[in-house]
Amino acid sequence: MTVVTEPAELLRQQDPQMADVLAGEAQRQAGSLQLNAAENFTSPAVLAALGSVLANKYAEGYPGRRYHGGCEYVDVAEQLAVERAKALFGAEHANVQPHSGSAAVLAAYAALLRPGDTVLAMGLAYGGHLTHGSPANFSGRWFEFVGYGVDAETGLIDYRQLQELAHLHRPKAIVCGSISYPRHPEYSAFREVADEVGAYLIADAAHPMGLIAGGAAPSPVPYADVVCATTHKVLRGPRGGMLLCGAELAERIDRAVFPFTQGGAQMHTIAAKAVAFGEAATPAFTTYAHRVVANARTLAEALARHGFAITTGGTDTHLVTADPSPLGVDGATARGRLAAAGMVLDTCALPYGDQRGIRLGTAAVTTQGMGEAEMVRIAALFAAALRGDAAQTRTEVSDLALEFPPYGVQ
Ligand SMILES: *Cc1c(COP(=O)(O)O)cnc(C)c1O
Repeated sequence: MTVVTEPAELLRQQDPQMADVLAGEAQRQAGSLQLNAAENFTSPAVLAALGSVLANKYAEGYPGRRYHGGCEYVDVAEQLAVERAKALFGAEHANVQPHSGSAAVLAAYAALLRPGDTVLAMGLAYGGHLTHGSPANFSGRWFEFVGYGVDAETGLIDYRQLQELAHLHRPKAIVCGSISYPRHPEYSAFREVADEVGAYLIADAAHPMGLIAGGAAPSPVPYADVVCATTHKVLRGPRGGMLLCGAELAERIDRAVFPFTQGGAQMHTIAAKAVAFGEAATPAFTTYAHRVVANARTLAEALARHGFAITTGGTDTHLVTADPSPLGVDGATARGRLAAAGMVLDTCALPYGDQRGIRLGTAAVTTQGMGEAEMVRIAALFAAALRGDAAQTRTEVSDLALEFPPYGVQ
């Protein structure tokens, strides 16, 4: 009898139906271009921590103060994650338990606000996240959200409007962060406005956190009372959230996560976060973060040459937003045709009107090793896909993707 020990082989023997799903998804990821600005490829080491026995362990509470026995190893895992996060981002306190970015934002609100409080955040029509006041989300149900916007001409945050709205509505908190803003927020300007009206400043840096870790974007840590983030976007860790704050809010933030909004911590994910923070502290990751931005700039310029209207005229980050209407299609049609050609991305808000544009990011393709030459190829493939020959373009997209296998040659 042969003993099978490879996890993938064990799964295939026990549950071939699910093994097929995993294999199909691996093939999809490797054979098409992942341009969703929120996605990335985690390292094999991160995946190893995720698929580990730490998934078996209950650990409510915090290291050294657990409600369960047997936590001596998972305590070390969480301490490593916390210490690495603090060092990476220069923060006094880190909470690595939020199960997602949304859970981190929920905990930040729980720590600082009461139901009914007024919050000033980027309007959803301009790129605010669901947790920034959507009526379909707890945030819109439990708080009074007021939305600031961007200038219709430049696409840039209108700081004068932000200041006016803050003085008019006297919010308890101002949220700075977006799902589609391609430029760096001016954290010092947000801080000034917050101080003028006595509001907390919450930075929801879910998108740029990996760029911040790699020194390729300014950090909100010196300015914001609380920083919320995800660990799975440019930061390239496991799916999850985190919170950073100063020492004076540490206790309130920790209690807002557990026991207020969450139960047992996911120790396998926390271990994987620690591994990702370790990776993000290396010179290789700094190089990566800068390449992500260089690739996004090149992609934006190349798309502009093919006729796309690039919001804000370019990008400072991993993220490009574009209006495809000069090519005769709206955002939803463009997304559909690009998906048919194997290029996966989202639609997004545009600074003007109610049409939608497309949002793409370079975090995943840069992890695969693609550079500026490939960005120019991708822009040409976009134009080809939207002009009609989807089948031919699909073949060229596969060829490009297969040149850069995300997990090496299988
Ligand atoms: C991605 C994102 C979130 C939510 O992250 P989830 O892990 O999907 O819950 C919150 N805020 C912003 C600005 C985001 O970009």
